Amino acid sequence: MTEPILPRIRPEIAALAPYRQGKQAGPDAFKLSSNENPFEPLPSVLEALAHTTPINRYPDATATRLRERLAARYGVDLDQVHVASGSVAILYQLVQAAASVGDEVVYAWRSFEAYPGLPLVAGATGVPIPLSADARHDLDAMADAVTDRTRAVLLCTPNNPTGPIITADEFTAFVARVPADVLIILDEAYAEFVTAEDAVDGLGARVFEDHPNVVVLRTFSKAYGLAGLRVGYAIGHAKVLDAARATGIPLSVTAAAETAAIASLDAEGELLDRVAVIVERRTALVTALRAQGWEVPDSQANFVWLPTGDRTDEIAAAFLAADIVVRPFSGDGIRISVGEEPSIDRVLHVASTVR
Ligand code: PMP
Repeated sequence: MTEPILPRIRPEIAALAPYRQGKQAGPDAFKLSSNENPFEPLPSVLEALAHTTPINRYPDATATRLRERLAARYGVDLDQVHVASGSVAILYQLVQAAASVGDEVVYAWRSFEAYPGLPLVAGATGVPIPLSADARHDLDAMADAVTDRTRAVLLCTPNNPTGPIITADEFTAFVARVPADVLIILDEAYAEFVTAEDAVDGLGARVFEDHPNVVVLRTFSKAYGLAGLRVGYAIGHAKVLDAARATGIPLSVTAAAETAAIASLDAEGELLDRVAVIVERRTALVTALRAQGWEVPDSQANFVWLPTGDRTDEIAAAFLAADIVVRPFSGDGIRISVGEEPSIDRVLHVASTVR
């Protein structure tokens, strides 16, 4: 049989692998592959969800109630807040808005797995800049890589999957080196887990005020435990966010997601107590892994990085055999989310046996 003629697909898209999700875990396994929150949803959030607006109606396209809450919280205007179905959606919207054919997008690598696809989908060229030896952003090299074709720079702090932060001083120096007409996206998906006092805090420091080219991204997926509902937000200059609103798929934030996000802000104290527990477990995990001889970078997020190099696949298989699903990056390392309490000892046991 002859092959049917199929519609032409852009070659760079045909060659692009779809987003790779961590393996699904069996009922007895710990799923530590997607940096999810291990706690059950709060009863108050579930209760609010049960009263979501009738689902035969479309949601509010701009999630006004949630934006009002966030605007009040951060002391910004309503149009300085943008909400989308996950912060990954906002990454796509902003890069689409800023970069096109012939343009460049600079990002650190290794970093969040979605980054390489962002310029590609926009028709632009990605410029990955290797992390430094201590698994941090090499901001000097990133600033050196900015050319007159650069339209956007992606900064991830704490860096997924390695864990270290960008400091406030490093960020200030970097912004000073980048032309003011280049978009800088400060991806702070894990901000609530940061305890280092010298870390950049894009919202606390209101960096977007002095620098309208900086947009700060946050999410309800991690610290707030709403990964399954898909809701994230950006704070920045209204005109820059208008561009994200223009490229976004209309009506993609569901009423359920907006309701749950608002209920989570109402229950923030309880949720941040859980974050503190995860941070304690992170400290215990990093300390014990280092005691076993692993060179674990300083993690300020809800995951840790094991630099397993050539042994990555074999070691990931050993974790899986012990019913722990981790996220291996072949030839490089393994990212392990900080999960349920009993998962910590199990992770440490496997880590010691493969060491
Ligand atoms: N940025 C970073 C650095 C991430 O690790 C993730 C999730 N893995 C996201 C953005 C996207 O999160 P979400 O779309 O769930 O808000």
